[in-house]
Formats: sequence, structure tokens, C-alpha cells
Amino acid sequence: MSSTTTNTARNDVAPIPLIEKPSRTHTPVPAGPPDGSTAASHAASPGGASKTACIRTFGCQMNVHDSDRMRRMILDAGYAEVGAYEDADLVVLNTCYVRENAVDRVRGHLGELNRLKREGQVKKIALTGCIGAAEESRQLKRQYNIDLVLGTHNTYELAEFVGLPGMEETHTPELPGTEGEHAAFVTIMTGCNYQCSYCVVPSVRGRMACRPMENVLEEVRRLVGSGTRYVTLLGQTVDAWRDPEGSGKRFYNLLERVAEEAARVWFTTSHPSNMEDRTLKLIGERDTIVGKLHLPVQSGSDRMLKAMHRGYKSDRYRRKIEVFREAVPEGTLSTDIIVGHPGETEKDHEETLRLVEDCSFDSAYVFKFSPRSGTEAAGLAKLPGAVPEGVAQRRFLEVLRAIEHNAFQRNRRKIGSAEEIYVRHAKNGKARAIGETWSGHAVHVPTNAEPGRYVTAKIEDAGPHVLYAGEPVGQPR
Ligand code: SAM
Ligand code: SF4
Repeated sequence: MSSTTTNTARNDVAPIPLIEKPSRTHTPVPAGPPDGSTAASHAASPGGASKTACIRTFGCQMNVHDSDRMRRMILDAGYAEVGAYEDADLVVLNTCYVRENAVDRVRGHLGELNRLKREGQVKKIALTGCIGAAEESRQLKRQYNIDLVLGTHNTYELAEFVGLPGMEETHTPELPGTEGEHAAFVTIMTGCNYQCSYCVVPSVRGRMACRPMENVLEEVRRLVGSGTRYVTLLGQTVDAWRDPEGSGKRFYNLLERVAEEAARVWFTTSHPSNMEDRTLKLIGERDTIVGKLHLPVQSGSDRMLKAMHRGYKSDRYRRKIEVFREAVPEGTLSTDIIVGHPGETEKDHEETLRLVEDCSFDSAYVFKFSPRSGTEAAGLAKLPGAVPEGVAQRRFLEVLRAIEHNAFQRNRRKIGSAEEIYVRHAKNGKARAIGETWSGHAVHVPTNAEPGRYVTAKIEDAGPHVLYAGEPVGQPR
């Protein structure tokens, strides 16, 4: 999916950043069966592979990561994974709550599942993730006859539901990524200590909890040992990470260490108030760190940034970007922008357009403000000063076009360069493989190389969202 995108495009497994995690990590640690074997070796006991399950994920990479953990429980419990609801005994909808349309979308799926259940095709429905953690889930449970509702803090309860031994809570996050895969997410912190006016994350994911440095490094080593070549450090504000063990280490130190352990590293999402210059410089210094930065700005207007409680002014953001551009001249920069927050005037909007021009983003997620119940901005949206839908739509398109225009110009400069490309998604039928350059550009490349391999090819063309490479030279490595 391209990243210069609409607000709606950010549901259903977005390949780029965002969210979250629970306040305290009540993390699944299998209590283990009585014989001391692991949950995995206990696999087939609850019913053999005659049971089937379908997991559908909505939202960000954090949700994809949570789905991976639940997938492992389900497979351990002897279910076979299927792609269609009709073929599944158990359906898990792992959801996002960041915008209102996310809930509407999930309602559509729940309606269909409810019908399949009445017809005897689907037997159990589980609703998990951010909607599961929200108040609204109670009403959804009744209305759609849902069997299990879990928030983001108690996903481990799915284990018992599918017939595995119960799990215990622990305060030491032990959140395994996808071992054995070429790329894995590693959660380094959960929750968020900010209180942005529009955002539900603090209420559904709780306050920030950081994972100890040694614990993160152990997991990275384990992943690398099992074949992972690309590690992405995840969290709502990763750059706010501090070692909870009191070593005084900050995100810079963690990134530096991870970059020594893994062959390819990235991190998301960052908050401008926490981003240190030395971290930006580190991106340029280490050749294992992908040269891309996702730094959500939300608005170019200081008035709006204040109303949003973002904690920085637009010029401070601009200065961070200057440091990044200088440290990583070929790097890519992406951001999040909200248009139509209550109180946004035409002048505020023009300031956002000016910032977009100044920062020359390579891509951005542009969102129309969506009032989320319980947030400060949802209250403001009912007062005079709310931005009419037509105006928000126009501003949305103006920001989107400005971003695309800049991104297109920047991408065209890459034409003619030879790039080492990391293959992320294999060729699929006639569709080319999709890879990523060290500068973080998405590239379509004609290769049969497996995900996790590198090919070298010349960039022959460019659009606003992706580059197009020619035939690779030499063999994949
Ligand atoms: N923690 C990150 C940060 O502060 O930059 C972003 C996390 S947030 C879940 C992902 C993005 O969704 C935000 O950057 C914001 O642009 C968008 N977003 C969150 N709540 C929104 C709302 N109520 N309406 C529109 N966009 C929203
Ligand atoms: Fe939400 Fe703001 Fe926290 Fe990001 S920093 S998760 S936008 S409250």
C-alpha cells in the first residue's frame, strides 16, 4: 500500500507505523502443561487440526504483531488457519479504534459473522484489540453475539479460550516476534504518556511501560539466530523509551546496540518531543539502520499543535528535520497529518501546507479529524469551531496533493541510481517483488528472489509512491 494515502487506507494491515500497547504488559507467559513441556509441544491436544480458525487484522503494525502472537496460540491449540470466514470454526477480529470508520468497518464484518454463525458455519467469534478494550465493545458483544471480547492488555486469555493451559501475567514483557521469518517486530514499549486531544490510544493502551534493555536484546539475538534479517522496533513513542532497570539508557543507546546485533533495523513510531539529534545522526552513521524516519507532525500551525497538546512548535519540528536531512541526505521522511481538528482555521491549514513544502516529505498519512468518544477534541467537535466536512475534505485533498507532488519530485531524483534492495514481498504471479532500498524507498523489482534476500538493480522509473527497478544484476544474496 502506498503511504501517501487517504485516512481510510490506514486500516486493514497498514505497512507503516502507528500504535500502541497496554499500560502494564500483562504479557503471556505460558504456565505450561503439567509435564513441563512448552505450549507449542502441547499443540494438538485440544482437538487436533480438524478445527479451523481465521484471524483478520485491522490497524497498524502493533496489531499485526498482536495477531502474530494470537496466531501462535491458535496453531498451538491445534487449529489450522484458513483465509475465509466461511471455512472457519473460530474467527478472531483483531481491531483498531483510532478512527470512527474503523469501528464502522468492524461492524460490517461482525454483521456478516453473525449471519454465518446463525447458519451454523462459524461457531465462535472473538473480538480483540483496541475496540475490545473500549467501552463500545460491550454493546457490540450483545448485538453481534460475540463469544469472547479481549482488550489489548489481556490477549493472553485467548489461550484458555482455545483450549491451551491458562497463562499467567507477568510484568516483564516477553513479547516474541515472528521467529524464523525474515522480518520481525520487536515491541520495546507499550502505551503512551502523552494526552493528545484527539487520541484514544492512552485510554485503550494505558500509560507507557518500557521493556528492559537486556530483555529486548535477548529477543533480538534469538530472532537473528533463527534467521530474522530485518528487525523493526515497535512502540507508540519508541524514542521515549528508557531502560526501566535504572541503567539510565535511552532510546539512542538501545538503537545503537540493536544495530550491532541485527543486519537490518528500523523503528517506529517516534514523537518529535522525544527525538534526540544524536539518534537522527546515528541513522546516518550505522549502515545496518534503514535511512527512513517516520516522525508524525500532525499540523504546521503552532496554534493547532498547542490545541492538540503535542508539546512542540512547528519550528522545532523543522529543526529536527534539518538534522535528519543533513545526517541522512538520501533518506526518506514520512509523517502523519490531521486536517480539520476542531478550531482549525484557513490560516492554520495554510501553515500546514507551508510545513509540508518546507519538509518535503517522501510520504505521509493524512487523516481527516475523526471525533473519538472520551477525547477532549470530541467534545470540542460539538462546539462552534468544528470544521465542516466539506472544508475538511478540501483541506485533506490539498495536503495530500502537496505531499504527492513533493514525493514525486524526490522519487524522480532516484532514477538512474543503482540500489541494493531488500526483498520484502516475493513476486506474486505477474506482480513484481516489492523491496526496500537502504534509504527506505519502496521499489517494485522483477526478481524471483525470496523475501529476506538482497538484489542490486538500477532504478528506471518512479511514481509518487514507489520506485521501479530494472532487472537485477548478479545473484540475490
Ligand atoms: N504515537 C504516534 C504519534 O503521536 O505521532 C501516532 C499514533 S496514532 C495512533 C496514529 C495516527 O493516527 C496519529 O499520528 C494521527 O495522525 C492519527 N489519529 C489519531 N487519532 C485520530 C483522530 N481522532 N482523528 C484523525 N486522526 C487521528
Ligand atoms: Fe496518541 Fe499522542 Fe500518544 Fe501518539 S503521542 S499515541 S497521538 S496520545
